[in-house]
Amino acid sequence: MTPFFDIDEKIRSAAAAAMKKAEKQFAAIEEVTEYNQQKVISAFIRHGVSESHFTGTTGYGYGDRGRDTLDKIWADVFGAEDALVRHNFTCGTHTLATALFGVLRPGDKMLAVTGTPYDTIHSVIGISGSGMGSLKDFGISYSEVPLANGRPDYEAIEKAVDGSVTMVYIQRSRGYELRPSLLIEDIKRIAEISKRKNPSVIVMVDNCYGEFVERLEPCDVGADIAAGSLIKNAGGGMARTGGYICGRKELVEKCAYRLTTPGLGKEVGCTLGMNRELYMGLFYAPHTVGEALKGAVFSSALFSNFGFDTTPAYDAPRGDIVQSLGLGNEERLVAFCQGVQSGSPIDSFVLPEPWDMPGYDSKVVMAAGAFTMGSSIELSADAPIREPYYAWMQGGLTFHSAKLCAMLAAQKMLEEGLLEI
Ligand SMILES: *Cc1c(COP(=O)(O)O)cnc(C)c1O
Repeated sequence: MTPFFDIDEKIRSAAAAAMKKAEKQFAAIEEVTEYNQQKVISAFIRHGVSESHFTGTTGYGYGDRGRDTLDKIWADVFGAEDALVRHNFTCGTHTLATALFGVLRPGDKMLAVTGTPYDTIHSVIGISGSGMGSLKDFGISYSEVPLANGRPDYEAIEKAVDGSVTMVYIQRSRGYELRPSLLIEDIKRIAEISKRKNPSVIVMVDNCYGEFVERLEPCDVGADIAAGSLIKNAGGGMARTGGYICGRKELVEKCAYRLTTPGLGKEVGCTLGMNRELYMGLFYAPHTVGEALKGAVFSSALFSNFGFDTTPAYDAPRGDIVQSLGLGNEERLVAFCQGVQSGSPIDSFVLPEPWDMPGYDSKVVMAAGAFTMGSSIELSADAPIREPYYAWMQGGLTFHSAKLCAMLAAQKMLEEGLLEI
């Protein structure tokens, strides 16, 4: 152990025990990381990436080789025909909204089959808010198949996907729910059922937090289109902003018409100087996701050793990088987030406090000390101050930094008399 942080001997030995306990999971994560790293490098090689691809364009950005080649590499890696990888997607929600508006037309019907989608998508669909130009405002109808015990309800999905459904929408990650994330095999099964019931249906996946967690991606197993954020998994901690859409060529083209304009599509969009970090982000992504996963498994093992409910359990299968820890009360949630913050490379001196965050119905306490604002492939933790008092944590650019933060979180709880070991 190192002399740099004051961590109680009891926490250090609990950490050593958690490391031992998680050995098998770490080995499995390493295997997936190696597979995906080779997948990414082989795509770089196939497309002959060179320094000239990093040259920034300005203005219209016609013929930006770096941009166009990155789209092709991305498509290869994600099992898709084409991709649209752009720094000027402002966030994951914007990327998903572009895909939805790009593909759906008035009179179409969107069917969410993994329960109500992630919060920020509600106003895109028109479940909440009005007059903002939601899908609903444009005459696109919406319905959903709820989860059954947190899992996809395959029978209900089979019933619901009839000829009237244009799009089947799947959310891979658990987001901020306590349900398990979807595994690639679950996505495959939903795609199979949906196509059997309606061969022309478009299967779309919100891939946020899921990229590189498994060997395959949604488009490898029957999804027609998938999208995600570059300040989560797929940007590898390198991309400072952006998003991607990948899938069937004709659908990606429609999304490009939505992002820029009908007619111009992928032909325009200068990259300024962003290409290098997007390439580097994709190169790093399998590794970074592996580090984040190890951090999640370690934290799950450590806090379950302290007697807390952790979901997923350290040894449960994972479809995303999200870890939640049931800490039981407000004091522990706050101490936890403060401990995490104290080990962050950026803003370590900040003391997180619960606050009334817009859009939430309870106070929220958050820890985030990241190189990229709001990045959640970098370690962050947040907890709504309400029943059942769970903290959600995700990310970690390096395993050792995530491990340190988890130990410091335990240390803070111990110092405040909130942890019994
Ligand atoms: C993060 C996330 C989004 C939205 O992404 P933002 O970048 O926060 O806009 C959508 N769906 C899921 C499952 C997410 O995790």
